[in-house]
Amino acid sequence: MTGAAGSGLSLVCPSCRMLLTAGAGAASCARCGARYPVDRGILRLTLGRAGTPNYDPHYFDTLDRVEARHFWFVARREIVLETLRRSVSDLDQRHLFDIGCGSGGLLEYLSGHGVALAGACDAYAESLELVRRRVAAPLVLVDEGRLPPLGPGYRLLTLFDVLEHLDDDRGMLRFLHDSLAPGGVLVLTVPAHPFLFDERDELACHRRRYRRRELRTKLEEAGFEVRLLTHFMAPLVPPLLAIRALTGLLPRSWRRSRERQDLEFRVVPVVNGMLRALLGLERRFLRTCSLPFGSSIIGVAARGGGSR
Ligand SMILES: [Zn+2]
Repeated sequence: MTGAAGSGLSLVCPSCRMLLTAGAGAASCARCGARYPVDRGILRLTLGRAGTPNYDPHYFDTLDRVEARHFWFVARREIVLETLRRSVSDLDQRHLFDIGCGSGGLLEYLSGHGVALAGACDAYAESLELVRRRVAAPLVLVDEGRLPPLGPGYRLLTLFDVLEHLDDDRGMLRFLHDSLAPGGVLVLTVPAHPFLFDERDELACHRRRYRRRELRTKLEEAGFEVRLLTHFMAPLVPPLLAIRALTGLLPRSWRRSRERQDLEFRVVPVVNGMLRALLGLERRFLRTCSLPFGSSIIGVAARGGGSR
């Protein structure tokens, strides 16, 4: 379809999966007759089940406040940009579409560093409202728990810390492979090491954390050629293990509380500065090597058949 409805995005009807056509202030489906409105710049491509009831929207505001400074978000955005530039040789000729864009801090950073955006989607209207203020790209509200309403032909898709939320991660990877044009590229990040899984993951609605080998197998089974797959955030593994051991002594009700989650989002200046410096060193190391451990994994996978 064109239009955002005039975005030129390849989008399908969430009801019948027919390619949509753009109209004035809406997109419509020629097969089933459904009409999807554009409301304040956001195309609402949902059947009415946006958002997960057990996710606390309180965190959108928290994220919005800490994302620019918190070591975890800073390290992630820097390694994502560097990986894109290093692994996608014709990056300047591709437009990135992000699935599950959250509050948009990462997209704002990428866009500010010259990465062209095709658009983004998320299942939360609250988060897209934040994204709308940060980047000028077509935004699409989608249903949680369904495949995103993407048509074929994308050249660069990104999925940052989304796959671990899905029951059917294999189905999503197959779908993304088929949504890419030949030579199209998927860049993704996921939380790593199943032995680190704890209440923080439960609070964040994670179904799992990944082993690197498991992610490689799932990507290859979906049809992808894996170009890069490395752990990062290695300096966080020892403190995470220590925190896990210590908080294990506290009541489970506290471990699952909002107070605990807020604590993790606090920016403590000295600790934050130290971890930012350490993770900056790690990023330089990753220019030439890959890491067998680290609390996250970043991957680059391509659909065969096109130029690199
Ligand atoms: Zn339809």
